Amino acid sequence: MKNEDLFERAKAVIPGGVDSPVRAFRKVGGTPRFIVGASGPYLFDAEGKRYIDFVLSWGPMILGHGHPSVVEALKNQAETGTSYGAPTELEIMMAETICQAIPSIERVRFVNSGTEAVMSALRLARAFTGRDLIVKFEGCYHGHVDSLLVKAGSGALTFGIPDTAGVPSTIASMTVVLNYNDVNGFREFMAQHGQQIAAVIVEPIAGNMGVVLPKYDFLKSLRQETKQCGALLIFDEVITGFRFCFGSHPDFVGLRPDLTCLGKIIGGGMPVGAFGGRKDIMALLAPEGPVYQAGTLAGNPMAMRAGLATLEVLRTTNPYERLEETLGLFVQDMQAEASRRGIPLAVNHRGSMAGIFFQEGEVRTFADVMKSDTKLYAQFFHALLDRGVYLAPSPYETLFVSTAHGKDEMEKAIVAVREALAII
Ligand code: PMP
Repeated sequence: MKNEDLFERAKAVIPGGVDSPVRAFRKVGGTPRFIVGASGPYLFDAEGKRYIDFVLSWGPMILGHGHPSVVEALKNQAETGTSYGAPTELEIMMAETICQAIPSIERVRFVNSGTEAVMSALRLARAFTGRDLIVKFEGCYHGHVDSLLVKAGSGALTFGIPDTAGVPSTIASMTVVLNYNDVNGFREFMAQHGQQIAAVIVEPIAGNMGVVLPKYDFLKSLRQETKQCGALLIFDEVITGFRFCFGSHPDFVGLRPDLTCLGKIIGGGMPVGAFGGRKDIMALLAPEGPVYQAGTLAGNPMAMRAGLATLEVLRTTNPYERLEETLGLFVQDMQAEASRRGIPLAVNHRGSMAGIFFQEGEVRTFADVMKSDTKLYAQFFHALLDRGVYLAPSPYETLFVSTAHGKDEMEKAIVAVREALAII
């Protein structure tokens, strides 16, 4: 079977041939690889080609593909039922694990995706505060929630404008878009409008404009100002939860949000999301309170089992330092090679995630990200793909490594990177 043939067949029945736009390779050109299997750090496509996988299903597969503990958990669960639509002890175990690992989460509810988690958290924040406006930051992505698919409008008070067809401007105008890492801009805005804000939502480490690391002062100002104005602070940790430590990194350094959204890793590769936080806020959720939120497959036992197995491996093996080291060495080598060849390359990385930007200097803001050479990224991407290395098919996505990425794979990947940098 050819990837091209499959893509043609897919396009005849699925819009654009894919179920999520970035999979279509539009930002880098070419034909998406149709995957028939995966194992450890590898993906296998329909043409029988093997790739070292640095996408990892966009983040969930921190243990690599087919980790034996996760597979066993799923097999066992499949034999006893895949969904009951009734409560299970597994949900309690997952909730207990999360509440223990992330102290700011006192109560948590499970949903099926990150998008759902964010959407529900916003509804809750609006109900709790009795206010409508939400603040987000340019370059952060929080799923395809209507009110967050917005970009900054013009004017001093920049109410958002729709960033996609199908979002009414009245809904977009419920969102204000500010600049990531801009402490003064945020303080000034809150001084004027803070009393109208229901919630400020942020990726505490941004992973949807490549990787952009937060200034500590920026996160601190979010906490201080929201508290002062009676707005809620929501950390969207769909990518970052359980990625840098067993829990939430900001929570560990004393930056406690009111609500947190989770997904990806906590589902171990099964569809999952979660939102949780202060118990006085979570108490507003139905059936305890008046905020309606529900799901046929929410907290389903397959996702809970895969998540519990993944978290148990992370808790007992504590692979975080090793992941950081694995990625750090890879990045170091990539940068050294780029600089030898006079190719401008900035890489932001922390833990198991990295953002690759073909540009000079530091990348700390969305405006910085926009300066990067996306054509060069596309060439780099294809040179690596030809060499059996699978990066995200977009310059604005994150590179991930897993615990299954051993010395052998990383050495092979480095050789491929050196060759790729030589020809782009
Ligand atoms: N929040 C963040 C930070 C994300 O990165 C994503 C997806 N990449 C989402 C929310 C939405 O999650 P999902 O795709 O599971 O709906």
